[in-house]
Amino acid sequence: MKIKYVPLVLIIICIFGTFNLHNTLLFFPSPPVESAPVNQWFAEDANVVVSLTFDAEGDEIQLNRLISFLDSENINATFMLKGETCEKYPALVKRIAHKFDLGSHTYTHPLLTEISKEAQLDEIQRSKDIIYRTTGKYPSSFRAPYCDGHKSYNKYTFENLLLSEIYIDSSIGTVTTAPISPPKDLKQFFPEYPYPYVIQMDGRMIIEIPWIYPSDSIAYDNSNTLDQILYIWKLAFEYCYEQKGVYVLLLHPGRTGKYIERITLLKTLIEFMRQYDGVYFSSISTIASRFSDWKNINKE
Ligand SMILES: [Zn+2]
Repeated sequence: MKIKYVPLVLIIICIFGTFNLHNTLLFFPSPPVESAPVNQWFAEDANVVVSLTFDAEGDEIQLNRLISFLDSENINATFMLKGETCEKYPALVKRIAHKFDLGSHTYTHPLLTEISKEAQLDEIQRSKDIIYRTTGKYPSSFRAPYCDGHKSYNKYTFENLLLSEIYIDSSIGTVTTAPISPPKDLKQFFPEYPYPYVIQMDGRMIIEIPWIYPSDSIAYDNSNTLDQILYIWKLAFEYCYEQKGVYVLLLHPGRTGKYIERITLLKTLIEFMRQYDGVYFSSISTIASRFSDWKNINKE
């Protein structure tokens, strides 16, 4: 299908330009290089890989609504579970684990940059433990709380992920559209780069699967109409499609699952995407595993 070119104004944040001395403790991941379009490592005929990811706070009604919706669409989404959510809704979390890909979203949802390295490690490991105790599965990926609006992680976060044997992260943003631009302090953001990449830490690697700006929280917080939100997400999708990239939506049961109209919006967006050729829906762990297989093959 021929894509009509839609002007997409990318907000360029000069990452290195905003780097100043008092930020030396901040962690800047490797510049995003050595990645490739999805047809080189996901599937030969892939033009874009779409991933729906839910940072799983939210109540039972919202979570159930999403599970039913994803079932009806036959989509394998990724749920980034909070330890507290496992405590509160163990049966529901078990159901989620049975069908979907799992990540950790910490235990109590702190802003990681405001707690110590040790406290971060405790948050990640305790969430990993309770997810395992509740579901029999370990989370394979991680997403930092508040990563859609703050400097929400630092060097320690990535060191702690390695210590916790979590090798996939999805906390860093990418593509944005002019109607909603990211806050200035949302650094570590590669606005033109919708591809997975590798973050090197002491010779070890974490696969970063970046998400598309804005998240549902940001979109709905900015008092946009549903039509405007749909328009913004479509623009970002068209950009990712042209780039043969990944399109990772950062969603929340408490936002997208809150009202039926928002589920309907997501359904409309999915229908829109399905009209294009070579659109794959996939989970974060599947994307990461195909990407890392490809990286290894290329290294040999
Ligand atoms: Zn969150």
